[in-house]
Amino acid sequence: MKAKSISFPAEGIDTSSLLEDLKAIKSADTEWRNGRVFGYIYHPGDEDAKLIEKAYLMFFYENALNPSLFNSLKKFENETVAMVANLLNGTSATVGNLTSGGTESILLAVKTARDKARAEKPAIRAPEVLVPMSIHPAFEKAAHYVNVKVVHVPVSDDKRVDISAMEASISGNTILLVGSAPCFPHGVIDPIREIGSLGLKYNIPVHVDACLGGLMLPFVEKLGYNVEPFDFRVPGVTSISADLHKYGYSSKGASVTLYIDSEFRKHQYFVYTDWSGGLYGSPTMMGTKCGGPIASSWAIIRHLGYKGYLEKARKVMLATRQIQEGINAIEGLKVISNPEMSVFAFTSDKYDIFNIGDELTLRGWHLDRLQYPNSLHMTISFGNSGLASEFISALESSVRAVAGDKVQKLQSQLTVSMIRSFSKILPERWFRAMSKALSGLFGGDGNGKTSRSAAMYGASSAIDNRRNVHDMVLDIMDKMYRIWHRKDKN
Ligand SMILES: *Cc1c(COP(=O)(O)O)cnc(C)c1O
Repeated sequence: MKAKSISFPAEGIDTSSLLEDLKAIKSADTEWRNGRVFGYIYHPGDEDAKLIEKAYLMFFYENALNPSLFNSLKKFENETVAMVANLLNGTSATVGNLTSGGTESILLAVKTARDKARAEKPAIRAPEVLVPMSIHPAFEKAAHYVNVKVVHVPVSDDKRVDISAMEASISGNTILLVGSAPCFPHGVIDPIREIGSLGLKYNIPVHVDACLGGLMLPFVEKLGYNVEPFDFRVPGVTSISADLHKYGYSSKGASVTLYIDSEFRKHQYFVYTDWSGGLYGSPTMMGTKCGGPIASSWAIIRHLGYKGYLEKARKVMLATRQIQEGINAIEGLKVISNPEMSVFAFTSDKYDIFNIGDELTLRGWHLDRLQYPNSLHMTISFGNSGLASEFISALESSVRAVAGDKVQKLQSQLTVSMIRSFSKILPERWFRAMSKALSGLFGGDGNGKTSRSAAMYGASSAIDNRRNVHDMVLDIMDKMYRIWHRKDKN
């Protein structure tokens, strides 16, 4: 057994060969420019993309850590926050900051609520954040980082949080109530008005996670679709997170966190005055902060304007409804609940939905897999909006393949590569145990080898012991980010 790692290069490589290397390495990535990747990429179209790229490069070197050196970035940040606050019906008291993404916006919102409670309700020793089951894991991460407890509230049949269960879960330790607009898994908006009322009734801050919907729902509402108020119009709402790098179509690394007033926000800030390096004040989590995402956010909002976003939203919603109708028209498939915007999941009571997902992958369409219930996920953004009919055809043929005999033949290629890649990252004992457990469930060959990649996705929802799954994911991450590669002799 030999081990090998990449050493620090002794000599440099010339630009043109290096660029060739970059190109070659990139060529193995999933092709997304054809519009067949959902979520992850939010492309505004080639022309608008050129603008954000130019703006990004223009401020590539500038550092928002020191706003007095780079006044431009301070202006872009404040104006971007102001424009988003205006879109979300903020008042003249509303304040906010630009962050690196939804996760940072949420980390800050939870930390701010914790520190506000520390200052105003010192009797609380074990602070709790009440969230719907469907909440984005960034809240679990935030709670993990800032040492507060997450209390999960069940969702109703329509996947929106059960408001009486939320009220019943409020305790003397509750420091924050949270709802999503919309949630990632099923794309539905929680009853924000009711959550706001609970906040007022019990004097607890309310955060709305509009990371997905913040730059989309206002336009969906304007287009005449049914959208309940979710923003600062709702009494009781004290903070909102809204991502610019999703439906804001900015470069990655851009989100906004908003607060009802600066009295509230001051609990977000960090100040250290005793350093030999001078006074250090920092509004958000990052220290050094690239000017690129800030400039491109400002530029794309200014460029598209309300009208431009509305037009994009119109196309996206038409495609969404067409795709949803196409899904519901296929016997055995259905869209879950009645999602307000362009994010949704669909499931099947007739087919193994993950097999359908595999068939779609074979046809070049990449959909996320969800559990509880097993389903496929779609985030339609502008880059996908011209492909509704094509997608439905691919879905129909995928369902036919799963329903018919073709399934094994078509899958073999994918299965082999999936199993290979899983066997690379999973520790041997996990892989064997999993394959064995799953081969029965998913029609394996009886020798402990899974015959379908779907089994792997089914794996985590089929295994009851969440602790085992937890350890498995830890192991996978550990292997993914290792720098020493063992060469096993086969
Ligand atoms: C994307 C997302 C987040 C987290 O945002 P990142 O930008 O990935 O850090 C939080 N909440 C919801 C609903 C999201 O869709």
